[in-house]
Amino acid sequence: MDKLQTEFDITSLLNVDNEVDYEVNGYLDVKYAGNKTLKNHPSKLKICIKSYHEKIWINLTLDFKFESACSRCLSENMLTKQNNFEIGFYKDDENDYDIDLNTEIIDVTPLISEVILNEMKLQYLCKLECKGLCSDCGKNQNIKVCKHPKKNLKESPFSSLTELDL
Ligand SMILES: [Zn+2]
Ligand SMILES: [Zn+2]
Repeated sequence: MDKLQTEFDITSLLNVDNEVDYEVNGYLDVKYAGNKTLKNHPSKLKICIKSYHEKIWINLTLDFKFESACSRCLSENMLTKQNNFEIGFYKDDENDYDIDLNTEIIDVTPLISEVILNEMKLQYLCKLECKGLCSDCGKNQNIKVCKHPKKNLKESPFSSLTELDL
């Protein structure tokens, strides 16, 4: 499997109102807090790029899977998500994503990242009532509740990330 394609030919949109559609498959390589995509799970990207007057519209839909570690019990869980994102750019203005629209090939990596980060959470719980790990022996309390006295639920090291200024 190849890495997901992120560069697309928009030659047919230059100086004319037109539309191109692509559908590609490939793996993603993204790690964020306790989340990571896996190389053996393909993601599917549908992208529609439209030129209309002075603007370029990009609509993308991404189907992807990633593994999330529970912030309490650290169990790894596979999540399947679909996220859609649409944005319009003025061709002659700079944009926040640093995408150059006046070329034949555009790279939409920043938009794909946005779609992915919309779904990856800093804090993820395998279930709302996750019992976490025993603060004494470290055993997963969802599997078997041990006899140690219960203190506060132990949060994973990832939880401290929420205090970072990003
Ligand atoms: Zn959990
Ligand atoms: Zn214990």
